[in-house]
Amino acid sequence: MNELEYRVGIYLRLSREDERLGESGSISTQRDLLLNYIRDNNLIFVDEYVDDGVSGTTFDRAGFNRMIKDCEEKKINMIITKDTSRLGRDHIEFGYYVERYFPEHGIRYVAVNDGIDTESNSSANDMLVFKSAFNDMYVKDISNKQRSALYVKKRNGQFVGAYAPYGYNKSTEDKHKLIINEEEAEVVKRIFNMFAKGYSLSSICDILTNEKIPTPSISKNMNIGQTNLHYGVWATRTVSDILKSPNYIGNLTQCKQKKISYKSKKRIHNRKDNWIIVENAIPRIIDDDLFNLVQDIFNSNKNRGKGNGITDKLLLRGLIYCKECGHTFGFRAQEQNTKKYGKVTRIYGNCNYWAKRKKQNVCTPHSVKYNEIEDAVIYELKNMCQKYVDLNNLEDSLKKSNKIQSKKDKCNIEILKLENSNKMLNKKIDACYNDKLEGNITLDMYKRAYNNFINEIKENENKINEYKKELYNIENNNQVNEKNFLKKIEEFLELKNPSRSLVASLIDRIEITEDNNIDIYYKFKLV
Ligand SMILES: [Zn+2]
Repeated sequence: MNELEYRVGIYLRLSREDERLGESGSISTQRDLLLNYIRDNNLIFVDEYVDDGVSGTTFDRAGFNRMIKDCEEKKINMIITKDTSRLGRDHIEFGYYVERYFPEHGIRYVAVNDGIDTESNSSANDMLVFKSAFNDMYVKDISNKQRSALYVKKRNGQFVGAYAPYGYNKSTEDKHKLIINEEEAEVVKRIFNMFAKGYSLSSICDILTNEKIPTPSISKNMNIGQTNLHYGVWATRTVSDILKSPNYIGNLTQCKQKKISYKSKKRIHNRKDNWIIVENAIPRIIDDDLFNLVQDIFNSNKNRGKGNGITDKLLLRGLIYCKECGHTFGFRAQEQNTKKYGKVTRIYGNCNYWAKRKKQNVCTPHSVKYNEIEDAVIYELKNMCQKYVDLNNLEDSLKKSNKIQSKKDKCNIEILKLENSNKMLNKKIDACYNDKLEGNITLDMYKRAYNNFINEIKENENKINEYKKELYNIENNNQVNEKNFLKKIEEFLELKNPSRSLVASLIDRIEITEDNNIDIYYKFKLV
């Protein structure tokens, strides 16, 4: 075929990978190179096909597809690219086009910078398949590198996702920083509070949906300026994801999902131990106590098993375990005829492990009446709480608060000293300035003295801040925990019918022995 009979299409491509690497120049530099090649070789230029910004790892590209169509319609019979990786980086599909499709359709393919021309006998052609396999490996490598660069960012507590998690916005100054989205944060707080009060996931979803609160995905679209006429239906999965996310106590959590491979855009849920969590990386929305309470409820709900109405609502559900084997207890309701009260429903419990494997003799029945256990536990819990309150009001805690007070005093004294020292330094600066005005010292001398004083002042200010932080920690850490337990305990003592979540915030677990003794493990300690 005469060179002049070649009708050429040039294919130009720029992908995100190229951008990151600063590789391959722009579309226009690719175009210049290829048009020069056409001119130097006296070829007929028919059309150009461009794919801009599309990843080269899939062959589903508009420009490329139009080019193939033109091949089909015989508008072109030669394709030129800058190098083989411009055609595509997936070597299986690349191989298909270069080794089968192009030859079968009489298309000549040239990759200018790689010296490849399917019509010549150049030894570079033998490298074609190897070359494309290399392109493929190359993307894999970039993709790994890209991931590890992201990994470092994630490890440093920098946010790298495309969208901020619900409750947050990306900072406009630093896209790796998250700031609170007040409207969404209010919804997060409500969800946590409702769940802690004992609302089920589905009732929370109903409430939010009925109030037309936009779901996270709709809210996300609204944040980027889309208007929506519908607000979406909240799903239990969405709510439970929110309730379990450490983001809300300020611990940035990333890698909850991962891409299966660089070739696929599909994402799967990552195992929890592969999450990257960086503490105190973002502003918190929920305090630790509320968050921990919610996690406790989740954990005890996990042990609840399938309920049957009555047993689903038991005050101590999910908290009762077998002392001997450590498995949970199962409860079932039974109707009985009694002489005194007629028909009554009694609830019986057994070690679940025993119940499921009766034939294997793995444990013993541990049969109990639920009501007896509940009565005993509540009685014990009340005693314990009363003791706690009494002790907290006693001298013992006075001593403790004296200790805290002396720590606070020490901080305050240090702060006072440093503040005085700064006052003195400012006076010295004033004196120096007067000396300078009166011509006693030169400008240089004044500058040097001034800088020394200022540095000292700054150092003092840093120290003052440290002490203030310490003060804050003393005031908060030492007392918050106790105060909150005290609050819950007092609440419990006042209530005739405490809620399950309140009980779960005070009791860690209840163990039943074979001879029906009850061991209660509390979450709070007597001083
Ligand atoms: Zn058991």
